[in-house]
Amino acid sequence: MKILVTGGAGFIGSNLVRQLVTEHGHDVLNVDALTYAGNRHSLADLEGNARHRLVQADICDAAAMQKLFADFAPDWVMHLAAESHVDRSIDGPGAFIQTNITGTFTLLQAARAHFEKLTCEARDRFRFLHVSTDEVYGSLGATGLFTEETPYDPHSPYSASKAASDHLARAWADTYKLPVLVTNCSNNYGPFQFPEKLIPVVILKALRGEAIPVYGKGENIRDWLYVADHAEALHTVISKGRIGQTYNIGGNNERRNIDLVRLLCALLDELRPRADGLSYTKQITFVTDRPGHDLRYAIDATKIKTELGWTPKQDHTSGFRQTVQWYLDNETWTSAILNGSYKLERLGSAAPD
Ligand code: NAD
Repeated sequence: MKILVTGGAGFIGSNLVRQLVTEHGHDVLNVDALTYAGNRHSLADLEGNARHRLVQADICDAAAMQKLFADFAPDWVMHLAAESHVDRSIDGPGAFIQTNITGTFTLLQAARAHFEKLTCEARDRFRFLHVSTDEVYGSLGATGLFTEETPYDPHSPYSASKAASDHLARAWADTYKLPVLVTNCSNNYGPFQFPEKLIPVVILKALRGEAIPVYGKGENIRDWLYVADHAEALHTVISKGRIGQTYNIGGNNERRNIDLVRLLCALLDELRPRADGLSYTKQITFVTDRPGHDLRYAIDATKIKTELGWTPKQDHTSGFRQTVQWYLDNETWTSAILNGSYKLERLGSAAPD
């Protein structure tokens, strides 16, 4: 298949693109604006691979998107490009409205124009997968799970902008018969996650001897999924999912933030002990809670499991261990971000060729 992936230089996107190219043998056009979160070092191993091409372009640029669709003629679109960090959305919501809502609208329009020109056979093959988050469902109490029928109740500018984009994607399916699928996934972890998200923050602050910040009392609960399992779920949904359907994706792996932080500290104690022999837990510092911080997210992934046969493969404990080990083994990748040098190595042109 020819797959147009948006946001493929980000955390999940780079893991997905690698899997699509090296494990499934697809041809990928990777469309990414290379914002602060996009990093072509995350795709260094695919350099020279004829099945992958990275084009620096903004999904809000209608002319660029139309040209990319016309030139590449994708069979599938996997839309991951987004502003994705909740704290940034609180400090500066404008970029979230622009990319997540206007950008998704622009991409849907380009996909629609492309779809309407296809032959019947190519239309049967065409799919648009919109990748979203469980945060659109709002906050759970101590019990219960988000299902595909849970009403939307977003609380942060990030989750509200993703909710809006989900509604747009479904509206393009209902109104224009674009073959859209939507996925809503829980928190991902694994290699190549930008060091502003909880797990890399904990690991890198710990290693630098800095305070490890934990919001509130660390009581918030998240369901964690290994990124390669998410990527495989996305491939399963676009290959086998029913058009117009939504699939929740989760790891059945709920953790209180404080328990996860302690686990990461314990793994570091074992894999890279502090010089003074004390535990990294000494560095944990509780900080003022995030405004509107949802208490608990948890996914019911029964539908994707029973209907499409997907289940996560990664064992939870070994997944966190592998992730800590990956950050220990890839300090060049993280230090290029921390010293800003990764930003200097942009692609030559902002326009698609
Ligand atoms: P990320 O921030 O690591 O990557 C986002 C990518 O999108 C970056 O490469 C960035 O350069 C690109 N991008 C941003 N604005 C763009 C624009 N206007 N045009 C083109 N490219 C642009 O995000 P991520 O964590 O990999 O998340 C990917 C997707 O998965 C997002 O849609 C997010 O909402 C969703 N999601 C993430 C998680 C998670 O735990 N990280 C969980 C569920 C769903």
